[in-house]
Amino acid sequence: MSEEWRKLGFDTKAVKLGYKPEVSNDYSLVPPIGLSTTFEQDDPSSHRGFLYVRQNNPSRQILEKGFALLEDAKYGLCFSSGTSAISAVVQLLNTGEHIVSSEIIFGGTYRYFDRIAGRVGISTTYVDATDPKNVERALQDNTRLVFLETPSNPLLSLCDIAKIAEIVHRRKDILFAVDNTFLTPYFQRPLELGADISVYSVTKYLNGHTDVCMGAMCFNDDSLYPRLRYLQNNAGIGSSPFDCYLVHRSLKTLPVRLRRHMKSGLKVAQFLESHPLVTKVLCPWLPSHPQHELAKRQTSGYTSMISFYVKGGLQETSALLKKFRVINMAGSLGGVESLAEIPSVLSHATYPAEERVRMGITDNLVRLSVGLEDPDDIIADLDLSLRSAVSLLYGERRIYSITACFCTVALRAKARPITLKIFMLLFDNATS
Ligand SMILES: *Cc1c(COP(=O)(O)O)cnc(C)c1O
Repeated sequence: MSEEWRKLGFDTKAVKLGYKPEVSNDYSLVPPIGLSTTFEQDDPSSHRGFLYVRQNNPSRQILEKGFALLEDAKYGLCFSSGTSAISAVVQLLNTGEHIVSSEIIFGGTYRYFDRIAGRVGISTTYVDATDPKNVERALQDNTRLVFLETPSNPLLSLCDIAKIAEIVHRRKDILFAVDNTFLTPYFQRPLELGADISVYSVTKYLNGHTDVCMGAMCFNDDSLYPRLRYLQNNAGIGSSPFDCYLVHRSLKTLPVRLRRHMKSGLKVAQFLESHPLVTKVLCPWLPSHPQHELAKRQTSGYTSMISFYVKGGLQETSALLKKFRVINMAGSLGGVESLAEIPSVLSHATYPAEERVRMGITDNLVRLSVGLEDPDDIIADLDLSLRSAVSLLYGERRIYSITACFCTVALRAKARPITLKIFMLLFDNATS
């Protein structure tokens, strides 16, 4: 990436993405989609830059340049999904080697570490990485990768990237990767904080329109580039030209979308924090978050992922999600639509139940991705749904119905004083 591009502001980089119209035959301002799966050679043993779509293609090359520019990184690579980007990082390891991972991570990453890498003899130790000392203690002679997700999904706890980088880099043989999906390079800069690789599920905020599955990674190390490019090609996990075209389009509005996500997200989080049926709200940019100071130091803003606990259990949270009219009941996150899910039964259902409960992923936890609808409509939807679903289920329905019975009985009480007495005894028992 040239100095000329590097000096530009983030919004300008997002609009330009390092693309120059002169690279297309007709000077198109928007890069054309190159759907060809193969490319004509000028010599049987060589090619003009592109040979076969899986290996490299013009649309992917343009997008990878854009990602590198957004992160001020030397290299950007695009994959068929966030999961395949993470799998490429893990495939740098050999059998017998070891990963240290933060314990609260995306469910799919946990399954990849545990059930796929684990099966070929790559073991993982999960630690509470909110305390860097736990990462340090878990390092073994054969550790080759430290993998963090910060903020974590779904509890939104933070890890101190700079501190952990300092610990990891006392050793020369360990790679330090950070999953930066939740914040994107707009709000958090893992490489500048000392990580070796930042990985992304582009499917979420980066694409932001709920219509592409893609992954990406950025890094500066020259020796990693050929190894990761080799995996991208030969494990068959690169992104397709059409998806690259769509994501290139989405990235141009990334900063504008994220500023609005942040504003609406905070408004919704503050509303939830004041709601009588919500017992706790998790959002790093709220002063009530235990790591709010770290959030302010390590990130330049926050997107719109909020988790909150409602009074009650699965019955209440299920009823709540079914009541929503503006918010959609769906997994995934980071799109223009507001989405809600219950992590204990969906995104994190594969965690062992007792582990889930220990970490705080209980049935009354709801994860909300605040979209770009009018924030007042989202708040009204939450308020109405909480009141009609949760309050009725949570005790109040019982008290209401008992009160209603009591009144009915009381009206007839003149004629039957004994019934009234019996009922008052029952009422006392039921409400105490
Ligand atoms: C969704 C997600 C992934 C996996 O990405 P896919 O594109 O779904 O494969 C990884 N990490 C985080 C934090 C995610 O939210």
